[in-house]
Amino acid sequence: MSQSKKQSFTEALSNTAVGFIVSYISTFLIFPAVGFESSPGKNLIITIYFTIVSILRGYVIRRWFNNKDVEPKDEYVKKTDGTLIERYCYDCEIEMPIKCDGIITYCSNCGLKH
Ligand SMILES: [Zn+2]
Repeated sequence: MSQSKKQSFTEALSNTAVGFIVSYISTFLIFPAVGFESSPGKNLIITIYFTIVSILRGYVIRRWFNNKDVEPKDEYVKKTDGTLIERYCYDCEIEMPIKCDGIITYCSNCGLKH
């Protein structure tokens, strides 16, 4: 995913707007087909209702997936062959494996930032 927040918002807004129009037009086809008595006003209210439900559903699912995709924090930094990368720690005064919290690397023994 290399979409900016603005692009994501624009896409979500376009998707909702197109969905709203398609749904509103569809109500004039599906309601008579199933014998549901409606009017343009009722169709509009129903379309607005389901649009709001759709936005909330999309939001909840997106948040749920975002939380699920959170990378495990505080991993040892490893080489491609799986061995731990060590750096000289000025606190421990020896080479120590380093950990990363996703942004900053630090000594896995004393927590000194590298
Ligand atoms: Zn240390």
